[in-house]
Amino acid sequence: MIVKGEATVVKNAGSHYLLSALPEWNLFPAVLRGKIRLKASEITNPIAVGDRVRFESDDAASEAPALITEILPRTNYVIRRSTNLSRQAHIIAANVDRAYIIVSLYFPEIKLPFLDRILVTCEVYGVPVTIVLSKVDLYRDEAGEQIEAFKSIYEGAGYRVIETSIPERKGIDEIREACKGGINLFSGESGVGKSSLIKALDPSLDPKIGRISDAHLQGKHTTSLYEMYRLATGGYVIDSPGIRGFGLVDLDKEEISKYFPEMLEASRSCRFTPCTHTHEPGCAVKEAVEEGRISAERYNSYLGMLEEDQKFR
Ligand code: GDP
Ligand code: ZN
Repeated sequence: MIVKGEATVVKNAGSHYLLSALPEWNLFPAVLRGKIRLKASEITNPIAVGDRVRFESDDAASEAPALITEILPRTNYVIRRSTNLSRQAHIIAANVDRAYIIVSLYFPEIKLPFLDRILVTCEVYGVPVTIVLSKVDLYRDEAGEQIEAFKSIYEGAGYRVIETSIPERKGIDEIREACKGGINLFSGESGVGKSSLIKALDPSLDPKIGRISDAHLQGKHTTSLYEMYRLATGGYVIDSPGIRGFGLVDLDKEEISKYFPEMLEASRSCRFTPCTHTHEPGCAVKEAVEEGRISAERYNSYLGMLEEDQKFR
């Protein structure tokens, strides 16, 4: 008998997938029915981790992989392009409830314009963001000045910032609580402490090794960049290695400031529309920067993106 159902992609290994009918965590292999074609030809993968799909399986042939027959509409997705000018793009994850962007002030040091670019990308994709400031035990000075300065910039822009330290068990419970119930994308530069954090959230997980058994996929090509884990305390984490190439979206010059939430807010009072918030008289964004209500760092990132945008045109 042919059984039909819906499930979520939890791992993508070449042309093979592992599915689970979330919130159940009962993984089974599946392949794509040949006739599903890519709508946008520049996308290199038709299905990504987090995608919800319809499938069919023959319960008389329980060893055979299920057949994915349809990809259900996505609420959002995050794409990675190899370079700014590259046409080819890869979907990192779909249907993401929240992205955790993990950064550290040292080892490795986050450059704020780089972080701002990633935040803009998440705004464009409609993915809510929490910033995780990792390894704070390494650089918390007496007054906590650097940490406070960082938090004031990003909390001022409307983002939640959670400080973490694995040795001090700081911030772990907070993130664990926030992850409950949803699909959470964890992203950070290599070395920032992403694996340590995932392990601290659920000690049964070890992203450096990979948790999902590949028994079903034996003999197949199983290297997989993106994989979903279930947290014992609830919720799911998609581990995505690296964040370079993730901050590359094609935006028109006039559009960029809309993805800086604090600038979007202030720009409602600009005298001219559209306003690039650079030279126009009566610009409420520039006024907010001068008065310190919008941080100079964020504004500089914005100017940098405008300039770069022109370079590519
Ligand atoms: P990943 O590459 O982002 O997965 O980073 P890892 O989790 O492998 O961590 C990189 C290095 O940073 C390792 O040596 C960890 O022990 C160290 N590390 C991770 N989190 C913390 C932390 O909160 N405090 C300190 N002091 N070191 C940490
Ligand atoms: Zn303006």
